[in-house]
Amino acid sequence: MTSRRQFIQIIPVAGAALVGARGAFAQAALVKEDDAQAKALGYVADAGKTDKAKYKQYAAGQACSNCALYQGKAADAAGGCALFPGKQVAGKGWCSAYAKKA
Ligand code: SF4
Repeated sequence: MTSRRQFIQIIPVAGAALVGARGAFAQAALVKEDDAQAKALGYVADAGKTDKAKYKQYAAGQACSNCALYQGKAADAAGGCALFPGKQVAGKGWCSAYAKKA
């Protein structure tokens, strides 16, 4: 009887832990502009701050949120990017691997 009651008490705790883990995943760390990979790709969290002299392919209006490699929704403030596994890029960001979403 006691063990059954203990089992029932454990379930909600395990459920909460799962939800917590999922929440943490959804809030993966944002890529920092001074990360090695970000520097190599010329990533900036604000596309307007792109080094236009260095990255001549940049055009106004380009941003992670409309890039083919962006894994978030267009309206999300941040989302995953295939080039930065386990991290998130800013929806308003940009990098030199930008490819317009079809
Ligand atoms: S590949 Fe696209 S989504 Fe990823 S950082 Fe560069 S511009 Fe943003």
